[in-house]
Amino acid sequence: REKYSHEPTFLQAVEEMAMALLPLFEDEKNGAFYKRAFVAMTEPERVISFRVPWEDDNGNIQFNRGWRVEFNSVLGPYKGGLRLHPTVDSGVLKFLGFEQIFKNALTGLPMGGGKGGSDFNPKGKSEGEVRRFCVSFMTELFRYLHPSTDVPAGDIGVGGREIGYLYGQYKRLTNKHGEGVLTGKGLNWGGSPLRPEATGYGLVYMTKLAVEKRLGRTLEAMRCAVSGSGNVAQFASEKLLGYGAKVITVSDSNGVLVFDDGMTQDDLHAVMECKNVQRDRLRSLDGKVSGRYVDGESPWSLDMKYDLALPCATQNEIDGDAARRLVKNGVLGVLEGANLPTNMEAQKVIRDKGDVIYVPGKASNAGGVGVSGLEMSQNSQRLTWTREEVDSKLKDMMANIYKQMENSSGKDGTLEEGANRAGFLKVAEAMKDLGWVQ
Ligand code: NDP
Repeated sequence: REKYSHEPTFLQAVEEMAMALLPLFEDEKNGAFYKRAFVAMTEPERVISFRVPWEDDNGNIQFNRGWRVEFNSVLGPYKGGLRLHPTVDSGVLKFLGFEQIFKNALTGLPMGGGKGGSDFNPKGKSEGEVRRFCVSFMTELFRYLHPSTDVPAGDIGVGGREIGYLYGQYKRLTNKHGEGVLTGKGLNWGGSPLRPEATGYGLVYMTKLAVEKRLGRTLEAMRCAVSGSGNVAQFASEKLLGYGAKVITVSDSNGVLVFDDGMTQDDLHAVMECKNVQRDRLRSLDGKVSGRYVDGESPWSLDMKYDLALPCATQNEIDGDAARRLVKNGVLGVLEGANLPTNMEAQKVIRDKGDVIYVPGKASNAGGVGVSGLEMSQNSQRLTWTREEVDSKLKDMMANIYKQMENSSGKDGTLEEGANRAGFLKVAEAMKDLGWVQ
């Protein structure tokens, strides 16, 4: 703890995982091995940090810090997104990389865990500034990437546009074409159908399963609060609407749009246009959509009733107070689209309530990296599957993750414990087989 006190989110991720694994650590036969394996897993294999100089529109050279955390390669190449956000530092990327190891293990595909990014803030930057930043970032990162070594993707602040600039520079530097060295590529230049939709769709496939199996209900007419309005939130909302659920909220870092009777398809199109084309704030939609905009609030700070909470924005967005509010208002499930959106205190509140379905991001948002894995397979075979083929594989993958959670949850265990144990055991056994721990 003291050693990593400067990396609080990383500590939080490790602590959360350790809590879920406690019964394994106490196992008479294998407990000592599990503890040793866990400690080994908390140390990244490699952390690369570098300077990213880029030229702004006034001709000044600016600097940002860049990182790639190559956390664990026991199951395959380091795989995990790049995040561009001013809050990024090595601790945040270590927390994300650590989570990624177990998430990738749950997909059943041969992928290790990694994460990267920069404290560059894309907000308010011109197209040219974003492009020059991406070119400079890749000018350093490219030397560490290879389809069988390290394959980054997008995350907060890195969508199709940024992946394009990064991949363009990779190709110029290496003269390597058709290489699956980044995922989330455009369909015309090596991407997979359904990759943009995969995290949000996968989250809703998992939600649908959990609601059917644990509540004996369908998603029809269920009131769902979604946070965020980026990639994950948009496609989760789209799929929820497709299943007849009511999307009550979407948000950004400034405020929340509330749709008391559920958003319409037109509302969703307006949100997508605002975020993806105008690159604007949700407040610009006030009066233009059927919902009302509430400034300075999030879906979790408002006192509202809904059945399901799908946090799809960022880490620690649901704190203890928010969780108490959710529980008081009768929430039936919290299914995470974002990574670690529910903080430790909030998790305890949910756990103590006993009957709230709680699925951690490493299981419920694994569809994104799962389809990234499918993009890698398509790249190495030099072919492209249809949208329907990828969608069917994504559904199977989410169903398989759900099954792993149920099977590993133990006698009285929760889905959360099941997810953590299933991912951990797979990685621990592989590390033992390779002689990395004993
Ligand atoms: P985007 O950048 O597309 O969208 C992020 C959304 O979250 C935006 O609406 C943003 O608001 C909001 N947000 C970001 N930071 C904050 C904050 N500090 N407080 C409130 N709102 C905030 O990212 P994604 O949709 O790709 O990612 C969202 C989450 O899902 C992240 O936790 C990511 O790690 C996780 N994830 C993403 C995957 C993917 O495939 N993209 C895969 C698995 C997990 P604003 O517009 O104001 O910045």
